[in-house]
Amino acid sequence: MNYDSINTPTIINACGTVTRLGGAPIRQSALDAYRSASDYSVSIEQLHASASTRLAELSGAQAGLITSGAAAALTLGTAAILAGYDAAKMDALPHADEFANEMIIAREHRSGYDHAIRAAGARLVEVGLNEQISGAGVRRVETWEYEAAINENTAGIVYVIQNSSRPALSEIITLAKQHDLPIIADAAGELPPHDNFKKLATCGVDLVAFSGGKVIGGPQATGILLGDKDLIASSALQMLDMDDHPQLWDPPASLINKSKLTGMPRHGLGRGMKVAKEEVLAVLAALEEFLNENPEDLHSNCMDILRQIESSISDCGIILSYQDNGPASIPRLLIDVAEAGMDAFDVCRNLRNQSTPIYINHGLLDDGLLMIHPVALRQRDIEPLVAGLRSALVS
Ligand SMILES: *Cc1c(COP(=O)(O)O)cnc(C)c1O
Repeated sequence: MNYDSINTPTIINACGTVTRLGGAPIRQSALDAYRSASDYSVSIEQLHASASTRLAELSGAQAGLITSGAAAALTLGTAAILAGYDAAKMDALPHADEFANEMIIAREHRSGYDHAIRAAGARLVEVGLNEQISGAGVRRVETWEYEAAINENTAGIVYVIQNSSRPALSEIITLAKQHDLPIIADAAGELPPHDNFKKLATCGVDLVAFSGGKVIGGPQATGILLGDKDLIASSALQMLDMDDHPQLWDPPASLINKSKLTGMPRHGLGRGMKVAKEEVLAVLAALEEFLNENPEDLHSNCMDILRQIESSISDCGIILSYQDNGPASIPRLLIDVAEAGMDAFDVCRNLRNQSTPIYINHGLLDDGLLMIHPVALRQRDIEPLVAGLRSALVS
């Protein structure tokens, strides 16, 4: 079976690690681990417990859980914040009206991914404004606004981590500790920089979510949730299959503290977000390789791909520039089609409609820029990519 045999055309992905286009290439080490995992059966509880121990060693967090994506990690982590070790609350979710269910989030942190938080049953309470929409507005969301929103229904705080996020995460951590509230942080795409994995796991947030299928290079449908032992236990319980006798059920103590449970939970909110044993080993293999790689090597491989493309289209009369902050992030190549009198949306559409469809990063189309993001480009893609770009740019 391959893509041809079911008539699915393959494409060239110059867009990046986006899920719509299948994410980043899986590392060979992850494919090998996937294959070896499929040769045996294991107890999935035991596997998650062992994975948690390994994730703790790699990150410095108390515990960790492999999930079916960062979005699933956000849903499971929120379910854990709402229910803790309480089996009846786990059973009630996503209906959370009977207990504290408000998660505070800045208006400017909201995105389509906050549906993952709401899916657990939490109600988002927005703070802050978008002052920048008014011409003279300069202010961003401020910490006092979070504090003013805290009441007895507050369950926790959601924080989306980006370099430009405000208020400073450290201020929100201090505030949350004062009020004994957990923070769940979305850092899905915040790798590289490579050292963010440890930094964000130990910065003082209670839970942090990463994608396994972005630059880590694990299977696309994997994610990693790191953090507090009890919250990870609750997240795991709400994902695991629970078809066992209460008299026999003996979960690994390193993952689940059975003595804290009010009873044996049934299938939880996250039962539909299960992770295959193969995916657990595969993403761990990818993660270890990612953490061991020299950030300079990833950066220089990416620059090498971009330079090949740049030098092959530099005679097209279009202004080209690099967006490059060194090994702390993935470099990109910008193609200024507006300056050359073209409509960036038309060029982008034209590229998608070519016989081998080419997907360019469309994040800066409003500025008239096409962006080449190199992480999902294979060497074999460069020649057809350059041919496609030349025909779109010169016509
Ligand atoms: C990619 C992304 C997600 C979702 O990650 P998945 O692993 O695809 O579930 C969530 N939040 C942000 C900010 C992301 O960039």
